[in-house]
Parts: sequence; C-alpha cells; structure tokens
Amino acid sequence: MNALGPKDHSMTLAQTDETLDLIADVASSFARREPSRVRALRDDGGHVDRQMWTRLADNGWLGILIPGDLGGAGLGVEALTVVARRLGAAGFPEPFVAAGVLAPLLLVGAVDGDAETRLTDVLDGTTVVGFGHAGDVAEVDGRLTGTSRFTGVEGADAYIVAAGSPGSRRLFWVTASAAGLTVETELAADGTRSAMLTLDGVDGLLLHTDAEPLIADALALARVALAAELVGNMDTMLELTLEHLGQRRQFGRPIGAFQALQHRAVDAWIQRELADAALEAAVRTLSEPSKDDRARDAAASSAKAAAAHAAGILVKAAVQLHGAIGYTDEYEVGLYVNRALTLAPYLGNADEHTRRLAELSVAEAAAQQRVADPSLAVPAAAELDALSDEEFRRVVRADIEANYPPALRYAPRRLFWDEQQEWIDHLIARGWVAPGWPVEHGGMGLGPLKQIIFWEEHERWGAALYREHGVVQVGPMLMKHGTTEQLDRWLPPILTGEHHWCQGYSESEAGSDLASLRTRAVREGDHYVVDGQKIWTTLAQAATHIYFLARTDPAAKKQQGISFLLAPIDTPGITVRPIRDIAGHDELCEVFFDGVRVPVENLVGAENHGWTIAKSLLGHERITIGSPSAAEYGLEVLRRVSRAAGVDGDSVFRARYAVLHRDVVLLRDAYHRYKEMLARGQEIGPDVSLLKIVATETFQRIAELTIDTAGDAGGFVGADVQVGDASVDVLTSFYRSLPMTIYGGSNEIQRGIIATAVLGLPRG
Ligand SMILES: Cc1cc2nc3c(=O)[nH]c(=O)nc-3n(C[C@H](O)[C@H](O)[C@H](O)COP(=O)(O)OP(=O)(O)OC[C@H]3O[C@@H](n4cnc5c(N)ncnc54)[C@H](O)[C@@H]3O)c2cc1C
Repeated sequence: MNALGPKDHSMTLAQTDETLDLIADVASSFARREPSRVRALRDDGGHVDRQMWTRLADNGWLGILIPGDLGGAGLGVEALTVVARRLGAAGFPEPFVAAGVLAPLLLVGAVDGDAETRLTDVLDGTTVVGFGHAGDVAEVDGRLTGTSRFTGVEGADAYIVAAGSPGSRRLFWVTASAAGLTVETELAADGTRSAMLTLDGVDGLLLHTDAEPLIADALALARVALAAELVGNMDTMLELTLEHLGQRRQFGRPIGAFQALQHRAVDAWIQRELADAALEAAVRTLSEPSKDDRARDAAASSAKAAAAHAAGILVKAAVQLHGAIGYTDEYEVGLYVNRALTLAPYLGNADEHTRRLAELSVAEAAAQQRVADPSLAVPAAAELDALSDEEFRRVVRADIEANYPPALRYAPRRLFWDEQQEWIDHLIARGWVAPGWPVEHGGMGLGPLKQIIFWEEHERWGAALYREHGVVQVGPMLMKHGTTEQLDRWLPPILTGEHHWCQGYSESEAGSDLASLRTRAVREGDHYVVDGQKIWTTLAQAATHIYFLARTDPAAKKQQGISFLLAPIDTPGITVRPIRDIAGHDELCEVFFDGVRVPVENLVGAENHGWTIAKSLLGHERITIGSPSAAEYGLEVLRRVSRAAGVDGDSVFRARYAVLHRDVVLLRDAYHRYKEMLARGQEIGPDVSLLKIVATETFQRIAELTIDTAGDAGGFVGADVQVGDASVDVLTSFYRSLPMTIYGGSNEIQRGIIATAVLGLPRG
C-alpha cells in the first residue's frame, strides 16, 4: 500500500487561489512554446533532455504529489493539473506524466532498504524511470520473464515492472543495464519514444507486494495529469487555429467569417470545454479523501475519455481549418497534432475509458435514488433563501415527493394548466409560484443557485415545471421596465394562477431573425391598433393573456421600431388557431390580430424600446435550458427499453450506450461549472450557449438510440408499446427532443453567438 494512504492526494499544502495562480505563472513562463527545441529533440532521437528534466525537478514538479517529508512538494492534484496543462500548451515533449508523475508515486513506501534514496534520485531528476503498465511478466524467486509495454519513456535509467497475475501483481525495480533485459524502441507520432521491455530471467528488486491498489491509484492520478496535458495541448491547437481563421483570406474575406468554418471551430471549442469541465470534476473527486475507489476511478476515466475524445476532434478540425499548411511539418500546429496523437491513447484511449466509465457507473443510478425525508418542516417561502443549499434541496425534494400527483410524473408532453391544477394550487398555497421574484413582490426571493436547485428537484422527480411565461418573463420584465401601476395590476393574478401568459414573438417571416417582425401597432389616441399574425405561440389556446412585440415605427431601423405590449387574449380581434404538431399534440398556435385595440397603458417601457426589453431577460435562465436532467431521464428510458428488448448485453448497443453515458457525465460536469459561477456571484457570459447545444443534442442522440433499440417496434407510438415482454414508451423522447434544438434560440444561432462573441471570429 502507498505510504500516502490510497486517497491522500488532497491539498497537503494550503492551496489558495493565489498559490495556484503562482504555480500557473511559474509553469507558463517555464514552459514556453519552443517549436525548434521540440523538433531538435525529435530529430535527435527523442530521448529525455536531461538538462530540461533537471529544471523540472528544480521547480519541484517531479514530486508535486509527494509529501514534503519524503522530499516532494506536497502540492496536491489541482496544482499537478495546472502544471501539466501548461506543459501541454507548450507542446513539452518530455515524459512528464510517465516519469514525473507515475514513477514517483509508485516508489513511495517501497519495501526495499534503499527506497528513500531511490525516490530522492527520481525527485531531483538524477534518475529517470519508466513504468510499463501493460504486458505479461511472470516472477520466480525475484527473476522476471515476459514483456512489459507502454512505458512512455525510452532511455530511462530504470523501469518499474509489474509482475504476477492480474489482480495480485507485485512491483519490481529493474535497472536499464540489467542482464537479460532487452529494450526495444517504439516510435510515437510526435517523435518521442517508448521502451518495450523483454525480460528473460531478469533480476528484479521487489518494491511492493500486493501492489494492485497502489497501481490503480497512481494510474488514476496519472490519467488526470494526462488529461490536463491534453487540455493544454488543445488550448494551443485552438489558439493557432483561431488565429489562422482570423488572418487567412479567401474570396476577399477572412475565412473565419464563413459560417461552415465558424461552426466547426465552435464544435471543437465545445469539446475542449467539456474536457476541461471533466478535468475540473476529476480534480474535485481526487482531492476529496472521502471519495471511494470507484468514484476516483470513474472520475479519472471520465477526464481521460473526454480529453482523448476531444483531442481527436481538435486534431481533425485544426488540420482542416488550416488547409494544406496544417498538414505540413514546418507549421507549428502539426507538432500539437502529433503530440495529441501520442498522448490520447497513452494509459487507455477514449474508447477504453468510455467503456470503463459506463461499467463503473452501473451502481451510480441506484446510489442516486436517495429518499427524501417526508417529516421535514417546510419554512415559509420568504425564509427559504436563508437555508443552506443542501437544506433547501432537502426541503424542496421532500415537498415534491410528498405532494406531486403521481399520475403527472414524467408527462409525455407539456401539460395544460388545468391538467396540473392540483399541483399549481399546492404551489400557490406554499407561496412557491415565483422562485426568482423578490419577496416584496410575492416571490420566494431565491438567489440564482437556489432557483436552479428548485428546478433540478422538480426535474429529478419528473414533475412538470410550472415556469409559465407570466412567472419567468412578464413579471421580471415588469419589475425591470414597468410602472408601479403595471406592477400592481399584472403581478398579483400571476401569483394566484388567475392569469396565464403566452409569448407572441415569432411570425411566419420572422423566426431566428425576429427583428424583422411585421405585426403593426399604430397609435390612435389612447390605444394602439394592432394588425398582424404571430405563430408558434405555445399554449395560446389556454392562455388568458399574451405579451408580444409589434412594430410601432416602420421607418426606423428594424430593431429600433419595435414595442412591447400586453393584452388579454379575449380582446376583440384576437383569434387563436391551434396547430397540430407531428407528435399529434396541439401545443403550438397561430394568433391573429385584426384591428385589436390595446390601451396605451399596456405598453411596457418606452415606445420603440421593445427589442431591448425582450433581450434583457436572459440571465441565468440560460443555464436552466442546459440542465442535464432531460438527458439523464432519457438515459433511464433508454435503459428500460434496452432491457425490455433484451439487447442490454448486446455489443453494438453497449458501445453506443457507453458513448451517450459519457456525454451525459460531461454535460453534468459542464453544467456544474456554470452553477458554481452563479454560486460565486460571477457573471454568466455568452459561452453558456454551450450548455443549450450540448444538452439538447445529447438528448436527441439518446432519443434516437431509444428508437433503434426497440427494433421493429421503434415505429410504434404510445406509452405502452410492446417490446419483448414489457410495455414501454419508445417515441416520446424523440418527439420531445426534436424542437429543443429550434426553440430558445436555435442551436445554429447559438453557435453563431459563440463564434463571434466568445471565439472572436469575424461576422459573416
Ligand atoms: C416547440 C416550439 C415552441 C415554441 N414556442 C414559441 C412561443 O411560445 N412563442 C414564440 O414567439 N415562438 C415560439 N417558438 C418559435 C421559435 O422561437 C422559432 O421556431 C425559432 O426562433 C426559429 O425560427 P423558425 O422556426 O422560423 O426557423 P428559421 O429561423 O426559419 O430557421 C430555419 C433553420 O435555419 C436555421 N437558421 C436561421 N437563421 C440562421 C443563421 N443566421 N445561421 C445559421 N442557421 C440559421 C435555423 O437554426 C433553423 O435550423 C416555438 C418553437 C417551437 C419549435
């Protein structure tokens, strides 16, 4: 067993943000991009540059996880990943993970008498050591015979070799000059070399008996470091690619203005972000001594799977977006491509870790079925914000589980208000209708993070979200831009459930380009007279009121001549026509305005300022739309259908499932990141569009596999399709998933936002 104990790589030094910033600064100035050094080392045989290695040691980085009393820096996992990422960004070719992370960890607590000196020599860079993590080596009386592979380093002074049967291996120290040892070179894509060892009765020095837990723990840490190095590599691949997109001109403009390239760059950026979020999650898990081995392994596999998968996408995008120059050795990006091709498969490639992650997470679903405590007292709505996040979650969970009508759980479509009246009445009685409104306006006064927890608990239970437009749009809009009279008039009936609002924005000729809307509102005395037509107005047939945008100044620039108006839906001249959707439901409507007289006091804000008002309400709502809960529920349905169809053990199904499972884990990690930003009171930027894209597209792919899994029954609709000997719902998820990529700003529009506002690419 590791002298550190199996899970002691937490913060052995107080790791403030400043300490980490300092480490990052040192690592950045140490590891600069030096393409000529990288090429020279490669062309010179790809061995370790010993001078550079000593400098790494002088920085304390070879013992970053090793406690101070053993001669290490004792800095913990986060510091390790900070350094590894910077080395990755610099294209650093030395085997930092193999010889600088893995080897020292495997030497700690060794049983032989010289163990301490050996470790000291490794930490000060005098001895370079590799570890063959794969192979088949037998041991008889300390003599080793067999092969050991993937050491990640050639020209080492010694190797650590695992011998024995899988599950009960022992670790041995073998010097490079040992009799009976043959070292063969395996050339990696980036020109570095790995040693393959053939042992023929080699005399090995016993380091550890019962080494399996130690190996597992060291590999988990090394995989996380490797993931960090890959993320750093991607940072630079992306930087070089974006630079090129901005500078290279074709057809008279920068190629970065072409939408096809923008979207490809955005998708590459998204993958890097997901890998980074998985890395952060792994750092959290591995820094937490209470986490069990399964959780640690899963977190490391998730980080490595994400990084290796993302690197594959970045490699292709980087070369493609550069054109021919990206395929040359002369240009720098090629070095990063080759480094990524080298690092991605080392210590398990994306497929291997995707598979492992799915296997390790089998028990996870059961673990998540925590039961709420029904006896928990529910404080008054206004007092909820004072609870801790965890207490608040427990209160909400208990209340939902005790009171949500079971028949309405996991409704296959959006419920009409009268269908969920019992639940709405409950929310009204609790004072839980408007989580985000301030208490003085009758809301719960919850901070952004608690609002998210509130909705998460609903989604976890499959409860309908009572997030009707009055609550999430009209109320907040009026609080920002309305008059006192408007607040007094419109807010109370939203809280009592008397008013239900629908949103009249889209028109047949104004979808993504909403500002080109044509519905006219002409001022006549103290009224506006409205003529025009709205479309895709969700639940308009059941709404009591509509808020809408209309053109009040046709001469102004298109965004500037629009006003924001409110009207009861039964105002004379308004006609609603439901539109049947392809799933057979009547959620969407057309709304016709024919000489509709809207009193001037129903104008929100100033005339012609409606566009700004409509755009001002994004905020943390944009996080909720990227919640992983729909995808998590989709996976659950998929598992049910696969069991019913008897294909849950089928290799094709399992491979596809494992990928989707991984992607849901990554979505969860990315979502967590934004929640943390809210918790810290940070502004959420336009990059949050990533969540919408990933959440909706992942859900769509899950829904697609659900259909495929049902075989011939995949085309049957209803909640009780016969699959095998079970009744399951096959198509509902797919129908739900289709419009998700359209509404709320289509995914193409979101990619456009990221391309220009986040990646800084030129507008097309
Ligand atoms: C289920 C559902 C509920 C809805 N509820 C409401 C509601 O309550 N109230 C309301 O006002 N509206 C609602 N909408 C409408 C929704 O906001 C629009 O569908 C959306 O803005 C897209 O407009 P469109 O359908 O006209 O598609 P278009 O804008 O015509 O787009 C068609 C395709 O072209 C792509 N595209 C368009 N412009 C670009 C571009 N510049 N670059 C790249 N690709 C582009 C789009 O992404 C899409 O794939 C709802 C829609 C759906 C599906």
